[in-house]
Amino acid sequence: MTPLLLLLGAFTAMEGVSYAAHRWVMHGPGMGWHRSHHAPPAARFEPNDRFPLCFSVVGFLLLLFASLGVEPLRWIGAGVTAYGAAYLFVHEVYIHRRLRVPLPRLRYLEWLRAAHRHHHAGGGEPYGMLLPLVRGGAGDREQSRDLLDRRVGTSP
Ligand SMILES: [Zn+2]
Ligand SMILES: [Zn+2]
Repeated sequence: MTPLLLLLGAFTAMEGVSYAAHRWVMHGPGMGWHRSHHAPPAARFEPNDRFPLCFSVVGFLLLLFASLGVEPLRWIGAGVTAYGAAYLFVHEVYIHRRLRVPLPRLRYLEWLRAAHRHHHAGGGEPYGMLLPLVRGGAGDREQSRDLLDRRVGTSP
């Protein structure tokens, strides 16, 4: 498999991993840390910030083993790390505005913001970040279309 396919495959697969981690870990046994993210901000950093630190260990280990000679892991680790960087930008910078930097308002990013706001409002779907599809019946598809169409404000 070519390096580019490994990288893109790992990046894409990470959306599923991210969904599962958010739904079944962070909203499961990890809720003790994640609850701080669903509450009004109380400090510059929140207990939920421990999750990306923990998850970054995976990318670090992949790249570490790649440096020891397991070459395909270099591209898988690059894809995992690139997804983490994209998640960081979308979630922390674009959606929650934790860095006050000027940002363009792009339709795709506004869709992600609206979908994530929906998660914060209800504490349920969508758990995904870069492809926050709402699964289920016609009502859920309607909701997903509504999230895409709705214009949203700047607060999360
Ligand atoms: Zn959030
Ligand atoms: Zn959540």
